[in-house]
This record gives sequence, structure tokens and C-alpha cells, in this order.
Amino acid sequence: PSILIDGTALAAGLVTRIAADVATMVRTTGVTPGLAVVLVGRDPASDIYVRRKIAQTGKAGMRSFEHRLSEETSEAELLALIGQLNADDAVHGILVQLPLPAQIDAGAVLDAIAPAKDVDGFHPVNVGRLSTGTGGLVPCTPLGCMMLLDTVIEEYRGLKAVVIGKSNIVGKPVALLLLERECTVTVTHIATRNLPDIVRGADIVVAAAGSPALVRGDWIKPGAVVIDVGINRVPREDGGTRIVGDVVTAELGHARAVTPVPGGVGPMTIACLLANTLQAAGDLVSGSRPSHRRQAG
Ligand code: NAD
Repeated sequence: PSILIDGTALAAGLVTRIAADVATMVRTTGVTPGLAVVLVGRDPASDIYVRRKIAQTGKAGMRSFEHRLSEETSEAELLALIGQLNADDAVHGILVQLPLPAQIDAGAVLDAIAPAKDVDGFHPVNVGRLSTGTGGLVPCTPLGCMMLLDTVIEEYRGLKAVVIGKSNIVGKPVALLLLERECTVTVTHIATRNLPDIVRGADIVVAAAGSPALVRGDWIKPGAVVIDVGINRVPREDGGTRIVGDVVTAELGHARAVTPVPGGVGPMTIACLLANTLQAAGDLVSGSRPSHRRQAG
């Protein structure tokens, strides 16, 4: 591609700006934004994500409250903790790392998080706000995708966008954000027929299927912009493993811009978590209704 969008650099810039805003908030209101991160069980990938999130919170000058619960935690115990965090004035954002153990209904837990503190944007109130375009907290990965797109796209209006994947975490919310910008959006998934032909019509492709090497060069229209959300662990020749996306980037010489994996959407996701925590803290401190998202800037 003519442009490899550097998500690591974009995320670092965003974290620097957030840190400056946090410092201003502390100076002017005396409030330090605080993020509670709840991890149930010992999933190794979740453990890495939680560590990264907590490390970044510190970099931005925010407080973090880490709650590590045993694999055997009951739903009632987790709901009791959520209740405490909802009531805690030092906590502005609450993140429950998914997946949760089988004995806990993840939907019930997400429903219990106060929407104003729901920095993952998974609560039905925030999902509804996103679908009606009325502000609220937006899921971090889709928000990161839009900021990456914003670095290369000035006018979205009328562009054809194809989203591959329809999950509540990535596919659906990213489709809604693109729709809000007046793209013509097609959402595709595992049962979609003739996926390559549909993707061939796209000016913007967001690949979030979790399927390594799914999107090939001949699917991509010359000049298209491709966001690769996939994180797939695949075997390496030397017996180890490596991380690849959903897109065969080496075949995309004719695309206008592509995000790398790693170093694209991943770092932006964490930076957007901090952005959401700052937004939640600002709204909670001012007692205002959920604000409309600020532009990536
Ligand atoms: P998911 O499994 O919940 O959803 C995958 C979606 O892709 C489904 O709707 C499914 O129908 C569709 N799909 C699967 N295989 C397909 C195929 N061959 N053709 C067309 N559609 C197909 O996954 P998710 O949580 O949405 O995550 C998607 C990918 O993004 C995963 O690789 C995940 O690891 C990655 N991810 C990355 C970040 C990040 O920060 N970079 C964040 C979240 C998810």
C-alpha cells in the first residue's frame, strides 16, 4: 500500500494528549480519573490485556484499581463488586475483562455496570445511544478503527464501506460509526455469499473476522483503505507462533492505506479506553449527560 497506517505512533500521540487533559482536570477540579479493571480467572491472553491496560492508565496519569477474582467467583459476588464500583466516586470507568467463566452470565454483568462508567461501551444504554447517534460511550476497538481511518480519509460521505464480522464488540459498532459518517455500509459475516465480490466494491474495508489470511489482494479495489482488526496466532516455521491479522497485507500493494498487525488497531484500542475513561470522568465530574464524542483530532 502507499500508506501503512502507524497505529503505535497514533496511539502514543493520543495518550500524550490524554495525559495533558488529565493533568488539566486534576489541576482544575482536583479529580483524578480512575479506571477499575476486573479480571475473573486466569486466562493468559486476558492477563496480558489487563496488564497493558493498567500500565497505560499510569502513563496517562490516571488511577487504576485492579480487581483479580478467582476462577470460582460466583455471579452474585461479581455483581456485588460491580455495585461497589458503581457507587465509588473515585472510579469513573469500569471494565470487566471478557471472557468470563461459564458460571457467570456476561450479559447480566455488563447490564449491571452504570452506563456512565461503561468505558467498554457494551451496556445496552450505550449500544442504544450509538445506534441512535446520541452520544454515549463507544466501544474502544471501533473507536480506534475510526481514528485510524481519519488519518487518511477526509470525506466519508457516500463512500462504500464493507465490514467483515458482525460481533457486538467490533463489527456492529464499527458499522454504526461508518453509517453515522454517511458511508454506504455492508455488514458481512460467516454466512455471507460471494464475500470477495462484495469486498471488491468497497472504498473502506474493516476486516474483523478473526480468520488469518482471509482477505486477499484480489478482493481489494485499487485505492481502497483497509483496517485489519484481526488478531490471530498462527504457527511459525521454527515451531513458535506469531500474530497475524485477517488480511494478506503483502498482496495489498494497490491499496491506498492498510493497518499492520501488530501495530495497527491493537494499540489504538487501549488508547481509546483511556479516552473513554477521561470522557466518563469529565461527564461524571460536571454532572452532565453523556457527551458527544470529541473528534479524534
Ligand atoms: P467474533 O468471533 O465475536 O466475531 C467474528 C465475526 O466474523 C462473526 O460475526 C463471524 O460471522 C465473522 N466471520 C468469521 N469468519 C468469517 C469468514 N471466514 N468470513 C466472513 N465472516 C467471518 O470476533 P470479534 O470479537 O469480533 O473479533 C474479531 C477479530 O478481531 C478477532 O481476531 C479478534 O482477536 C480481533 N480483535 C482485535 C481487537 C484489537 O484490539 N485489535 C479487539 C477485539 C477483537
